[in-house]
Amino acid sequence: MNAPAIQYADVSKDYGKLRVLDGVNLSVESGEVLALVGHNGAGKTTLMKLLLGLIRPTDGSVRILGADPVGHDGAEAKRALGFLPETVAFQQAMTGLEVLNFYARLKRTDLNDNPALLEKVGLADAAKRRVKTYSKGMRQRLGLAQALLGDPRVMLLDEPTTGLDPALRRRFYQIVSDLKSAGVTVLLSSHALSELESRVDRIAILNQGKLMVTGSLDDLRTRASLPVRLRLKTREGQAGDIAARLDGVDMTQVNGQTVEFACMPQDKMILVRRVSELGVDVEDMEIELPTLDQLYGYYRDGGAPS
Ligand code: ADP
Repeated sequence: MNAPAIQYADVSKDYGKLRVLDGVNLSVESGEVLALVGHNGAGKTTLMKLLLGLIRPTDGSVRILGADPVGHDGAEAKRALGFLPETVAFQQAMTGLEVLNFYARLKRTDLNDNPALLEKVGLADAAKRRVKTYSKGMRQRLGLAQALLGDPRVMLLDEPTTGLDPALRRRFYQIVSDLKSAGVTVLLSSHALSELESRVDRIAILNQGKLMVTGSLDDLRTRASLPVRLRLKTREGQAGDIAARLDGVDMTQVNGQTVEFACMPQDKMILVRRVSELGVDVEDMEIELPTLDQLYGYYRDGGAPS
């Protein structure tokens, strides 16, 4: 079996007395898209810096494409890495194409590929404009083009969607999806769980340097087993009837027509059956799953072991 594209084994990192990563175990398989989610200061960037070989772990080991980033075969593995830092600052007087050419020379990639790369990130029309005229979203995309130089096999994207509007976010995730289709491994960080739904394979929630949980959003939902809310709309005046006849159920009567129940996900259908047995006319029913923010809060606070 191939080694995982990225592997952290029992990784801790201290800065003086401050422990910023604490016993992190995490593997990302080839072609997988994994999001690191956590508040500012949780340790997301530190995890990326370890892969880039900019810092070393205090304990444990880090592997990128099977190699130690600071070991003898690390340089070659790092050449297969693309990195988009959280804040990108480019030389303002240069055009987008000149900036990309500059980085291409550093990375020794073919300059002739650069116009196509700018096209890919939606900057073809702005290629010959100076960076100082670029919006925040355009600079971010130029940063992404820089990270894509040389067709990396592993992409590290630190808070890549900060400051992007919803349309640009969609476009960004389309690029991530294209990368995945091409077999590229993507590790991205975000402090917003809500934008990740159906866009990443797995999520790892970090809190104060500890990995609280990893899994797909579905896994995280199932494992958290947070209550779902069921809202029923009946004919006028019947809501009180339901409220009076169903006992032992966590329920709120909203008005004469609407009642809301909270129940465990596995009890949802039992509840629906009990209501239907009451013989009242249900005009509409809505099921509200726990929001992603509730889910994040649950795991961040140590709701369940990883
Ligand atoms: P995130 O990317 O999740 O916002 P970071 O990985 O940047 O978090 O930082 C994690 C913690 O490590 C923070 O408390 C930060 O202040 C601390 N930290 C990061 N770099 C250094 C450093 N060079 N020296 C001391 N503390 C640092």
